[in-house]
Amino acid sequence: MSLLEIALHKSFVCTGMLLTMACSLSSSVMAQSGHVNPWEKKDIGKLPPIASLTEGMWLKGDLHLHSRHSTESSNNPISKIVAFSKSVGMDYIGITDHDNHVNGDVAHHTWVDPEFKTDSLLLLYGAEWTTTRGHGNTFSAKPYDHQQLYDVRDQRDVVTAGVKKKLGIHLSANHPSGKDHFGYSYDMIESIEVWNSAVWPKNANAIMIWDDMLSSGRKLTGRGGSDAHHGVPDSPEKATKNSVQATANYVGTPTTWVFAKTRTLQGVIDALTNGRVSVSANPYAPRVEFYADLDEDGKMDMMMGDNAKSTGKVVHFQVQLSGNALPEATYTVTIVKNGGSFATFQATGKLPVVEFTDTPITGKRSYYRVTIEGPQTAYPQVPGSMVLSENMVALSNPICFNFDPNF
Ligand SMILES: [Zn+2]
Ligand SMILES: [Zn+2]
Repeated sequence: MSLLEIALHKSFVCTGMLLTMACSLSSSVMAQSGHVNPWEKKDIGKLPPIASLTEGMWLKGDLHLHSRHSTESSNNPISKIVAFSKSVGMDYIGITDHDNHVNGDVAHHTWVDPEFKTDSLLLLYGAEWTTTRGHGNTFSAKPYDHQQLYDVRDQRDVVTAGVKKKLGIHLSANHPSGKDHFGYSYDMIESIEVWNSAVWPKNANAIMIWDDMLSSGRKLTGRGGSDAHHGVPDSPEKATKNSVQATANYVGTPTTWVFAKTRTLQGVIDALTNGRVSVSANPYAPRVEFYADLDEDGKMDMMMGDNAKSTGKVVHFQVQLSGNALPEATYTVTIVKNGGSFATFQATGKLPVVEFTDTPITGKRSYYRVTIEGPQTAYPQVPGSMVLSENMVALSNPICFNFDPNF
């Protein structure tokens, strides 16, 4: 029943003693029905063209790591993180030490460590912004004045957001539903950590927050981060009570894939901001790619993270698993549309592919994203991680329709 129908119904039943009260209620409802929300955008205008689906490369990395410059870490110098990352084929990493452990002066700790050098492994500049109101990671292609962000951590969001914008950095909400959740406005971030550490089940509420943000028009990228603090001790006497974590949660649990235009720090950050990103349980797990064909010509026109205007025509979607899909395995592919489950498929084979169609509503926002569940691909270097990730293999970012780029 529409508001107008409710109002008419109510005025029809207005009788006797209730008449005055009920009718005044119905007239206020009637008045409401004619209301037009001035914030409701009629037309989002022309959207920027979608970037090439082929000019670029998939790069994999970990966006949340703590080295010895975080005081609660153990056996984890930068050299150990870097050597391990290279040994498992990482392309980039973000070492994000707690800034409060050095009173905000990350620039004279992590970044000047002689072991902090970008070569074949891209090292992002960043830190974990560790504040009373929660945690967020910063990412930058070049050094920036992190001290300024640290200094405004307790100020009103309008002040903090201004400083963040001036610094020109990518800011990302960390473990948004756990302890030290991100207690700031989500309007000042570009991405959200939807998969923190190898322990998949504790991320369910982070996914819920992500869906709420997407549904309200905030096109935030979902990313992963192991949040690993502890390395394998070089000798038994160097072991700490947390050393057990080193073989259960370390670099790559989970792994964040980005489709970057160039193999550069800026390439990684741009892809992260644009949302051409998926997350896999570990570096050897299959990568999920998600595409859409907008005009039924059999050629894909957009991928996850992209945004197009809906035309009222049917859209062909394609989900594919690349890399090390287990040939004997059956994967469950769940399509989430606008925060709710839309369809579920089973996929098998060396390069599992799922196709489906839908017609995104015209003139309104909608989004589609994918999760892949199934058996874990082995990660022998971090053997304890597989059981912790349970059956979550990979998740994609959304393909979006009618999101307002000027929101
Ligand atoms: Zn944290
Ligand atoms: Zn952390």
